[in-house]
Amino acid sequence: MERKADLIDSYGRRISYLRLSVTDRCDLRCRYCMAETMNFLPRAELLTLEELVEVADAFIARGVTRIRLTGGEPLVRRGIEQLVGWLGARLGQGLEELTLTTNGTQLARFAADLRAAGVRRVNVSLDSLDADCFRHITRRGDLTQVLGGIAAAKAAGLRVKINMVALKGLNEDEIEAMARWCAAEGHDLTLIETMPLGEVETDRTGHYLPLDAVKRGLEERFTLTPSFRRTGGPARYYEVAELGLKLGLITPLTGNFCSGCNRVRVTATGTVYGCLGQDQKVELRDLLRAGGTLDPALDALMAAKPEGHDFHIAARRPAVARHMSVTGG
Ligand code: SAM
Ligand code: SF4
Repeated sequence: MERKADLIDSYGRRISYLRLSVTDRCDLRCRYCMAETMNFLPRAELLTLEELVEVADAFIARGVTRIRLTGGEPLVRRGIEQLVGWLGARLGQGLEELTLTTNGTQLARFAADLRAAGVRRVNVSLDSLDADCFRHITRRGDLTQVLGGIAAAKAAGLRVKINMVALKGLNEDEIEAMARWCAAEGHDLTLIETMPLGEVETDRTGHYLPLDAVKRGLEERFTLTPSFRRTGGPARYYEVAELGLKLGLITPLTGNFCSGCNRVRVTATGTVYGCLGQDQKVELRDLLRAGGTLDPALDALMAAKPEGHDFHIAARRPAVARHMSVTGG
């Protein structure tokens, strides 16, 4: 593949990481993410699997080395195993890592395919280990199914990182239990603060749990040693000595992480956003369908990528109207 100029934004940040949303649909309805009744996009508006690969190739040619597939729920997209196979074939050809963020419901079915395509790590969202609480938060999820998916991923040789959104009054009492379970299973754990993205019927401020307080609570029982590992993403990492656990904290509201941002996000319809929490974007779908090059649009995105997000949970309204499931979490 022809290697072209790197993507560097107007703040000098080099873009090496792409989050590619393959669908806005999901088989769950997590309360902080979606409304109970969602209007999903008509299928014709989605990029085809071939178009998703074209987008990936355009970014790889411009220096993107890591791609994470997301959604919505990526494993409910028809043909996902084919897409993962095609993208996996780019590994070692500019692409260094292909990963996926999933809710785990379909992992038992796809874990072996993912591993065979070259995926080595998956992030699985799991907000509770209590079946009733899990069903309440996801509005329909079956904990046993998800735990089965996680076990299948581990058995297939995939490293698993659990993503847990910390929610006041819902799962805040379970954080230590989740940390212990992850340590026992050999998974990493990342805790996430709720972000004000899209209307979800309820007021998120009620469940907002600042992670600095969670961290202080954990530090009463465990030794958290900061790790200097940074991925250009929003997580800060710690080693929990007593558990042998790697713990990530994603604190978009209590800690600013934008200065080292190395990523952009493509929606399932081919809109590219420079920031999860801002509206600057470029559209790729019409360009793809007209057979043109995507480079001028990618350059325009670099000029438009904002310096940082503008989340304020106290504002009691979404920072942007789109849900995380649209931009691709
Ligand atoms: N369906 C997949 C999943 O749940 O992992 C992938 C997409 S989901 C949008 C990606 C991540 O975003 C999940 O870990 C989810 O918990 C998180 N998420 C969704 N909405 C969020 C919000 N408003 N604030 C913080 N995290 C959110
Ligand atoms: Fe679906 Fe993931 Fe959003 Fe939950 S967080 S509703 S699993 S897209």
